[in-house]
Amino acid sequence: MKHAFLCLLFLPLMASSPVLKQGEMSPVNFDVITLGDGIYACINTFEGKAICNAGIVDNGESTIIFDTFLSPEAAEELIQLVSRLKLSPIRFVVNSHCHNDHVRGNQSFSPEVKILSTRRTAELMERDEPISIAAEKIYGPVQYAYFDSLRGTYKGDTTAREYQIIKMNRAYFEELSKSHERIRSRIPDTFVAKEHSIDGSRRRVRLQDKGKGHTESDLIMYLPDEGVVFAGDLVFHKCHPYLGDGDLDGWKSILSEMALMNVKTVVPGHGPVGGIESIAEMKSYIDSIEVIARQLKHDGRRRQDIKTVPIPEKFKDWWMEDFFQGNVEFAYDKAE
Ligand SMILES: [Zn+2]
Repeated sequence: MKHAFLCLLFLPLMASSPVLKQGEMSPVNFDVITLGDGIYACINTFEGKAICNAGIVDNGESTIIFDTFLSPEAAEELIQLVSRLKLSPIRFVVNSHCHNDHVRGNQSFSPEVKILSTRRTAELMERDEPISIAAEKIYGPVQYAYFDSLRGTYKGDTTAREYQIIKMNRAYFEELSKSHERIRSRIPDTFVAKEHSIDGSRRRVRLQDKGKGHTESDLIMYLPDEGVVFAGDLVFHKCHPYLGDGDLDGWKSILSEMALMNVKTVVPGHGPVGGIESIAEMKSYIDSIEVIARQLKHDGRRRQDIKTVPIPEKFKDWWMEDFFQGNVEFAYDKAE
């Protein structure tokens, strides 16, 4: 069940921007944040089935979609949005990495649309997707029934954090419980190595293969003229990342490199849009987890003691706190 809680969920915290005219239907699975003319961040909502964030960039001739969500229906909302905004035709879809919540909407795009990723990401999808979907068939309905009943019987304040967590989990597991019926994995067909340009008359668009970080292979999309980076899961903003498939040294050196780029705006894989400081915050989180793990080893504490370790004060208000314990365990297993 390695993939059971992969990259789970995520959330908004920013109001929808008024990119649509009054009377036009807003997407139900994500909020749309305008970052520039033809540049949009699509941020998952508490009850959304997008689960991760995505990006839309029009280069003047082609529209590029960065990550396709967990749910094919949410991906269809991306396609409808591009049409309502009268952007250039969608010609390229990019998968930042192999996790289910970033790739399952690939099937919603027409066959002429190229799906880009690194070669390794495509290999990992080919290897892991059938295994993940078979496992989701078993645990998805069980988890969905659990969170659905929690929501149904909830009597507290519906603005409370606890309730938002129930809603997010319910949406995630509802989608997973159906995956086996309708997902037709569409593996990327065009491979990116190092840097790949999709420049157009309106702007430069660069895909950069960053190597091993959050997974064995991570890709970002960078708009050098506007200083916007779509970071995939190399950056989780105001929420605990999932470290379990990561290469922590590789991840930290990628973040150090990214912090030196001309970046003003970071669209994370999960959480609200941030500034360049969100890159340093992610590195600081990984450093903190490693320090905690090394200290535990040094003090002769056992792995099972990790469940009593409190979340450090500076990450107390971050979402997806369920990842914290597993993250410390992962670093503990690797600590000298
Ligand atoms: Zn991920």
